[in-house]
Amino acid sequence: MNFPLTVIVGPTAVGKGSVVAYIKEHFPDVHLSVSATTRKPRPGEVEGVNYFFMTTEQFDELIDSGQMLEHATVHGTNKYGTPRQPVEQALAAGKLVILEIDIQGARQVKAAMPSARTIFIAPPSWDELVRRLTSRGTETAEEQAIRLETAREELAAQGEFDYVVINDEVARCAAEVVELVKA
Ligand code: 5GP
Repeated sequence: MNFPLTVIVGPTAVGKGSVVAYIKEHFPDVHLSVSATTRKPRPGEVEGVNYFFMTTEQFDELIDSGQMLEHATVHGTNKYGTPRQPVEQALAAGKLVILEIDIQGARQVKAAMPSARTIFIAPPSWDELVRRLTSRGTETAEEQAIRLETAREELAAQGEFDYVVINDEVARCAAEVVELVKA
């Protein structure tokens, strides 16, 4: 059976990363796309596992040679994109492929591949989202403000996506995502 390409989006700090990590751990037949980025690695992030970290020149070269399925500048600063070949190979092999990208990228994927399924991960409430962002403490106050501004815009766009799943609890949310994808 062939699964549609699945795109997971959602605002900053909603816990998409935890949901995706849970899916990877508990549903090993899922292929998670590794994105390219011009952002610097955070402590503990591993090249080729979390991201392919690269310079802007290297990133632009991938775009120019048609090797990016989609790409976007996120939070007005760094570029992020999905390398095309691993996604196409995994889909051709009949794997269930998940992209965890921003909403600009999700729109590009949906336009290029209307059969793709888009899932928006929403927080239980705005206050809870703010709490999750401030308590993880990985951004400065200024970065937090920028991310919350992006989050406000992203939450307003949630009606564009095929499904909305609330991340009230990681395991429950991840199971719901997998159910939707396999349905
Ligand atoms: P972070 O810097 O926190 O790892 O990611 C910031 C944002 O970039 C997240 O919203 C994430 O969904 C988005 N992002 C990560 N990879 C990609 C990608 O390949 N394409 C696009 N369009 N966005 C991405």
